[in-house]
Amino acid sequence: MLLQAGTISDGGRDLDRVVKMIGDQRGLGSATQASVPRPSRPTLGTGPSFERRLSALTTVAEVDPGQELASFCGELTERMARLVRARKVLFSVVVDGMMMVQPHPYGFGDEVSSLAVPCTPEGTGFADDIVYHDLVFRGAISDDPAFHSYQYVLQVMQVSNAIAVGVAAGSERIGLLAAFDSQRKGGFTDDDVDSLRIAAAAAGLVWRHKRTADERVRLHGEASALNDAMRSMVNMMVHELRSPLSVVKGYLSMVSDATFGPVPISMLKPLRTMRERLQEALTLVDDLLLSARLESGAAKSNPQGFDLAELASSVVERETGKAQLSGGRVALEKPPDPVPVMADPKHIGIIVDNLVRNALSYSGASPQVRVCVSGEPEPTIMVIDQGKGIPPEAQARIFERFYRVTDRSSPSGTGLGLYLSRQLAELEAGKLDLEWSEEGRGSAFALRLRAASNE
Ligand code: ADP
Repeated sequence: MLLQAGTISDGGRDLDRVVKMIGDQRGLGSATQASVPRPSRPTLGTGPSFERRLSALTTVAEVDPGQELASFCGELTERMARLVRARKVLFSVVVDGMMMVQPHPYGFGDEVSSLAVPCTPEGTGFADDIVYHDLVFRGAISDDPAFHSYQYVLQVMQVSNAIAVGVAAGSERIGLLAAFDSQRKGGFTDDDVDSLRIAAAAAGLVWRHKRTADERVRLHGEASALNDAMRSMVNMMVHELRSPLSVVKGYLSMVSDATFGPVPISMLKPLRTMRERLQEALTLVDDLLLSARLESGAAKSNPQGFDLAELASSVVERETGKAQLSGGRVALEKPPDPVPVMADPKHIGIIVDNLVRNALSYSGASPQVRVCVSGEPEPTIMVIDQGKGIPPEAQARIFERFYRVTDRSSPSGTGLGLYLSRQLAELEAGKLDLEWSEEGRGSAFALRLRAASNE
């Protein structure tokens, strides 16, 4: 088998000639399977001791599959060569009916030039027998009829002894493991053959494990590259959407304000609906853009000291109108003294706005919302409602991107609000948590921040 011949470094110079010669002899170069005498099955004797078997297993199983493929394969063969005290060990892999010697990502044989020979379950050649028919070869090459056709080559390569076994993982036939030239007088023993078989069984599993792990890493890389590409495309589109939407918003305001002339009464309601819908679209665009900036690390905090109670009060003021429209109220509870915090007030405003808006949206008719600010033990703002509450199984997920609890009574939304709020809270070195929620009774969210005096 030319695989063996090519791996012996001394013969590297003659290799191309040798490979060609063997190819011509066996028709391998033209990818046809020539018939060769089948080597006889070796006598394995009673087998090595338990310790020897164990050592063969652990020697191979200890190879770290986390390393680079080339060094993984190198270490695997090196360990097996040491195990049977061979001058060289070759591990060749069958891919699509061809035994790949080199180059192939999972095959190796450093001195072998590019070569692939047919190897199939139907074949009757040396490699077919070993890989697919569990034949184990052991022999002083010059004595064995199976090697007659390679006699010249093997002499050039100074090989006199070889053993070869198949490598499989479960029902998958992976390839062939061959060891050449024992470093001991008398060549390879029965024990060597057995050790190599056991090592080959372990190598099959380790190799498959490595291939699966590499594949997983590759797929993961591809998926995240695709994800990144999708994300940047969506971000670009969202970014492009923003300016036309703003222009429409501007014109709509001017129409509503009668800048272009009196507005018929019949148009007032449709205009209001258009403005509201447009605002929803702009809010979504802004949320998506903020999400992209947070994820890429482009969103930066601009921390400054400010009074949390004052910020809460302006949010309450902003949202009161909406609460009143549905017959409800937003109440502010705050200590007499200011609650100084150190954070970016713009980001904290977005968080508190989101919490209060959610409290109003998920409360049905007549929402009753309390916004409670306290300075002790740390600056905290709680938003408490008496709304529909959050089902227990959803509570752990409400901060996930795009997660929504959807039932028939749910108002429209994107599932971005709490995700963004928590990201922003973390950017501000704070914490946003769901403190309590009970279906049909309400929910309480708490935002905890750094006190300004800590700075
Ligand atoms: P959205 O409100 O756009 O759906 P959020 O991220 O703000 O997205 O909220 C995620 C989900 O958490 C909502 O779909 C809702 O089911 C639930 N939720 C948030 N706040 C409340 C609340 N105060 N009361 C009940 N459910 C809430």
